[in-house]
Amino acid sequence: MAIRSRADTGEVLNQSPPFENVDLFSTDLPLQDACKANGVAHEAAALSSFGRQWGSAGMLALGRQANENLPKLRSFDAKGRRSDTIEYHPAYHDLMRASVAAGLHASTWTAAGGRSAAPAEVARAARYYMAAQVESGHLCPITMTRAALAALAPDPALLAKIAAKVVSQEYDAAFRPWWDKAGMTLGMGMTEKQGGTDVRANTTAATPTVDGYVITGHKWFLSAPMCDAFLVLAQAPGGLTCFLLPRFRPDGSVNGLQLQRLKDKLGNRSNASSEVEFAEAFAWRVGAEGAGIRTIIQMVQLTRLDCVLASAGFMRMALAQAVHHCRYRSVFQRHLHDQPMMRAVLADLALEVEGAVALAMRLAGAFDRAAADPVEAAYARIVTPAAKYWVCKTAPGFIYEAMECLGGNGYVEESMLPRLYREAPVNAIWEGSGNVMGLDVLRAFSRENQSGLLDSLTREADVPAAETAGPLNNLEHASEAHARAAVGRLALLASIAALRASAPPAIAEAFIRTRLSSVHGALYGAAAIDTGTAEMLLQRALPE
Ligand SMILES: Cc1cc2nc3c(=O)[nH]c(=O)nc-3n(C[C@H](O)[C@H](O)[C@H](O)COP(=O)(O)OP(=O)(O)OC[C@H]3O[C@@H](n4cnc5c(N)ncnc54)[C@H](O)[C@@H]3O)c2cc1C
Repeated sequence: MAIRSRADTGEVLNQSPPFENVDLFSTDLPLQDACKANGVAHEAAALSSFGRQWGSAGMLALGRQANENLPKLRSFDAKGRRSDTIEYHPAYHDLMRASVAAGLHASTWTAAGGRSAAPAEVARAARYYMAAQVESGHLCPITMTRAALAALAPDPALLAKIAAKVVSQEYDAAFRPWWDKAGMTLGMGMTEKQGGTDVRANTTAATPTVDGYVITGHKWFLSAPMCDAFLVLAQAPGGLTCFLLPRFRPDGSVNGLQLQRLKDKLGNRSNASSEVEFAEAFAWRVGAEGAGIRTIIQMVQLTRLDCVLASAGFMRMALAQAVHHCRYRSVFQRHLHDQPMMRAVLADLALEVEGAVALAMRLAGAFDRAAADPVEAAYARIVTPAAKYWVCKTAPGFIYEAMECLGGNGYVEESMLPRLYREAPVNAIWEGSGNVMGLDVLRAFSRENQSGLLDSLTREADVPAAETAGPLNNLEHASEAHARAAVGRLALLASIAALRASAPPAIAEAFIRTRLSSVHGALYGAAAIDTGTAEMLLQRALPE
């Protein structure tokens, strides 16, 4: 036997191989089952091809590079003229190009038969969920672009003017007027210094002119400022109104957007989020004066769905990394994966992801069916805020636990877990923070009798009536102080109903036992999951 030199430390023992060049679809049984249950079984081959593309070492490297090389604000050119542009790393553009080519920014609007042609939403949702596992910062403009089209519906002429450029599957990063580009992206500006949730406090002013409006004021957050146009809320003479504000005026001159600085954020670092001043910027009105919130709310439901999908995707990637590592890593002569306490943690994490992905895909299905089915419309209306509240707030703690499964490696950037961990909280904050989701569910219950939805969820979940008693039955009358308990319970019930339709019965039963019938608590690994179900969960999470 060759004796190794004392200096030879090159041989790496007892470490897992890189988690790359994986098919993000074929290795994810809960996703496959949720796709089948929601009508896209026929797309399995295409989804698998997407899963291989996004799970490749090359795409994972792009995700890392786009976050290591931060976007830079170029306020002025070399001679002192205003520039107000952002310089991104090429990796960011590559990710944008791939997402646009796959139609993540618009496929639901271009599907044969239009948006209501089921299951366009589910097919896109599955792809979005996989893309979010690899890189989420670039998905901000992708999400906003596809959702903004919904808000433009009240102005068919304006929509018709730009629609072809928006749905184009060619990404064009050039800083030129949108009509000279192969494709365009859309952003949004609602939040001001004095109010984000409370957009009625907006002070940005809109003054009518002959050909549109002049916007003067600021936005405290304006993400992806290289988008070609932005939906913006401003106070017009008739009240808070929605506008489409392009980066170039109709005469081809640069519009009055002055980017003040970029936010130094916890995560979401590949995505530039700016503070902006509108210096007499040109804009088109969208919808009636005073109807700003009503107009923009069409967009918000769609962006909230994407928050749920992305957070479920983060959890999925964290789980896959944890299970993968524990299958290779031995401690005390036994693989971590076979250590009873680690199995309990991994199985509990896997069960959480089962619920999240089943719920997220079922919710996407409701968006597909809402136009033709009032019950599905009610589902989309109510379960969107409930799922956003629950899944997006679950993700950070979940990722922390998955990170620990990798030991010290999990705390190191190359493992990707730190990036996922930093990325996760933003989905709970933007597009309506946790409490705001609670208020939204209460509002929907107070305006309309939702007992039909609760009855159908309880029936589909097949849980004893006693399990849904308490806070859930009182949603109509719940006080704001108790809304979180009720909305959390609603999300659990919807998860179980979704699991009943897509996962093996033992999974739904384990979810009920450990999350509905007993309080789960913030930590993982203490839930009573039997050995057989644990094995099933781990095989479904990452087939060996
Ligand atoms: C990375 C990033 C990018 C962003 N990009 C954009 C963008 O592109 N465009 C844009 O318009 N905005 C953007 N935002 C802003 C974001 O949408 C807001 O921060 C968010 O809506 C919350 O608003 P706020 O910051 O004003 O907080 P506030 O409205 O002050 O809320 C603070 C807290 O109070 C809670 N709260 C509010 N009302 C109530 C109530 N009645 N009862 C109990 N609790 C309540 C909220 O849930 C929240 O937890 C971005 C934010 C981040 C972090």
